[in-house]
Amino acid sequence: MYTPLPNMVKKTKIIATMGPASSDPKVIEELINSGVDLFRINFSHGKKESHQENIANIRKIADELNKPVAILGDLQGPKIRVAKFADGKVTLKLNQKLILDCSYTELGNDQIVGVDYADLAKDVFKDDTLLLDDGKIAFKVEKVVGEQVHCIVIQAGVLSNNKGINKLGGGLTAPALTTKDFADIQFAAEAKLDYLAVSFVRDATDLILTRTLLATHSGNCAIIAKIERVEAITNLDNIVKESDGIMVARGDLAVEVGDAQVPALQKRMIKSAQKYHKLSIVATQMLESMITSPVATRAEISDIANAVLDGTDAVMLSAETASGAYPVNAVSTMARTCIEAEKNRDTNIELNFSGQKFEYIDQAIAMSALFSSYHLQARAIVSLTTSGVTALWLSRVNSGIPVYAITDSKKAAQLMALYRDVHPIYVSGKTKSLEEMIDYARDNLIKSGLIKTGDTVLLTTGNHIHQVGGTNTMKIVKW
Ligand code: PGA
Ligand code: MN
Repeated sequence: MYTPLPNMVKKTKIIATMGPASSDPKVIEELINSGVDLFRINFSHGKKESHQENIANIRKIADELNKPVAILGDLQGPKIRVAKFADGKVTLKLNQKLILDCSYTELGNDQIVGVDYADLAKDVFKDDTLLLDDGKIAFKVEKVVGEQVHCIVIQAGVLSNNKGINKLGGGLTAPALTTKDFADIQFAAEAKLDYLAVSFVRDATDLILTRTLLATHSGNCAIIAKIERVEAITNLDNIVKESDGIMVARGDLAVEVGDAQVPALQKRMIKSAQKYHKLSIVATQMLESMITSPVATRAEISDIANAVLDGTDAVMLSAETASGAYPVNAVSTMARTCIEAEKNRDTNIELNFSGQKFEYIDQAIAMSALFSSYHLQARAIVSLTTSGVTALWLSRVNSGIPVYAITDSKKAAQLMALYRDVHPIYVSGKTKSLEEMIDYARDNLIKSGLIKTGDTVLLTTGNHIHQVGGTNTMKIVKW
């Protein structure tokens, strides 16, 4: 059974991608107990039935463990891929020629192969560089003839079926949402997923369209914009403003902008998310070596710690948990690295307040609670919240004081699972009045050892429970 104490030490959230290595219910339970706060269902792989089964298992196990766990659906987007080869793969030599043919329907060989993007020949030009399989292989475009892109191999290697194609510098005109994505948006809405990630976002309109499509299926997933195209960097602030959060999608981003640019861009993106009070996720290759090795490299540990120090809400595992040999080990490695790095985060909240204007009542209450808790060095901030909005405000400034967010909305508890520094606690609808909720919170936090009798606690509440955005009171109590 899940015991809240050890897991509640960790403040940065961990995302695990579901896949064959993590679908067994026993593994899901171990992953949650090792520190997973959110599971990613990747619509690029797997069938609807397996997604449904994973979602049902995650919800059931999280309920049994009494731990709020979120689920994020990740749209495939216009990932452009080569078609299949007759032999499953080809060996490409330096300087040899290969034709990418948009209308070719047969199995490919080392001279010609199909692509699944009809406009490739319109979007690329002589001397463009195409990067395949995350940049492991590179082509230079020699000429474009009708539907055919004639290439010369400038970085040799083995190219296998369905590997991705990116254009260095961006500029492919494919819209962010494909027909498959439309169907997956409906699926995400019907499955009541908490978050939906949009791949290859170009500008804010991609997010507006996603939100509209979700609404037509009565879905209200929070939207995460994956920043992995050159165009998205240009339009970063508008994308951030229109989203609920962003993902630093370093896999495709590195191929489009060049890998050396990614570390600085990661910092810029997290800062932009902070500026607009939005969530951020750092993704891809965080523990890549642990796909096959039981221990991480020093560089991987450093990368996770640096993402924590940059101020990200969450760090993400991809193949490490989806298809790797050590999924649970990868999560516990990530968890202990986060906990250690968090000790060195900057908690000088004064810096966060200078020049800030508060626009909303719940925001002002949250900021007052942060300010007071920091100066009184309180044990905890306890927030009674219906929608989780106050907890979101409380998680935007790092005061070093833990936030326990008590809610009787399961949906809010699941959303809050992604908020840095916030420990959501779900109370089933049995407690009715505000007073009962406060008593419940105090008794349980004391019983679980998270606070001690007599500790100073900052409490934020509304006039009643069940009032969205109704937080209007901050109380300083000695429990
Ligand atoms: P993906 O997105 O794993 O869906 O490709 C993340 C990335 O590109 O880094
Ligand atoms: Mn990607």
